[in-house]
Amino acid sequence: MRNQDSYRFQGLRNRLLDTLTSKGIRSVKVLKAISRVKRHLFVIPGAEHRSYEDIALQIDENQTISQPFTVATQTSLLDVNPNDKILEIGTGSGYQACVLSEMGANVYSVERIKKLHDKTKALLKEIGYPQIRLKYGDGFAGWPENGPFDKIIVTAASPVFPEQLGKQLKIGGKMIIPIGPENKVQELHLYTKTEPYKFELEKASKVKFVPMLNGITDRHKIQ
Ligand code: SAH
Repeated sequence: MRNQDSYRFQGLRNRLLDTLTSKGIRSVKVLKAISRVKRHLFVIPGAEHRSYEDIALQIDENQTISQPFTVATQTSLLDVNPNDKILEIGTGSGYQACVLSEMGANVYSVERIKKLHDKTKALLKEIGYPQIRLKYGDGFAGWPENGPFDKIIVTAASPVFPEQLGKQLKIGGKMIIPIGPENKVQELHLYTKTEPYKFELEKASKVKFVPMLNGITDRHKIQ
């Protein structure tokens, strides 16, 4: 059955935690959450043996599950507290959503590729995360019916600050997002909302994400 763990995977997860620590991840809360999520369940069949290496891996539909270091960095910068209401844009494999959920957050996640949304929805139910709310839609529009959110995490690169997402953030809330052109290196931006239309910006590390694209698709390939 899918929800299987093993001593071998547990050992590899511990090694991954050491790697993340040696690369500068300090948040015990984040490391604990990563130690609880079985990343080998989120990769495509056949890639399980590489799932605890600190690398991004291909998932379906030409998308990627982010590198654990990137997940840890984004999650640390977001400063997640239990019961935070968090919106994620780019559900992908669901791995990042589960890390947030393990930190006690209430997670809402939006994905624009129907096939990935459907697959991840089934997976999260099967492996014990039925509480994560998933939506098939265009992340540029956010999820206004469930806003405002304490935190927003965008896991695809946007060329610009997405205005609609900014509106769905609480005052005092934070958004972490890779900003920059497609297929080039981007920069992680951490925005803190200080007033209705005002954000403070802190720039963090350089990163490489797949692009945040407009609109939704139920096709099997992105154009
Ligand atoms: N957080 C994911 C990483 C996924 S990669 C994980 O942990 O596995 C980025 C994802 O963002 C892809 O699945 C891609 O289809 C999705 N995406 C890109 N543009 C989007 C948009 N406008 N709205 C919602 N999802 C989008």
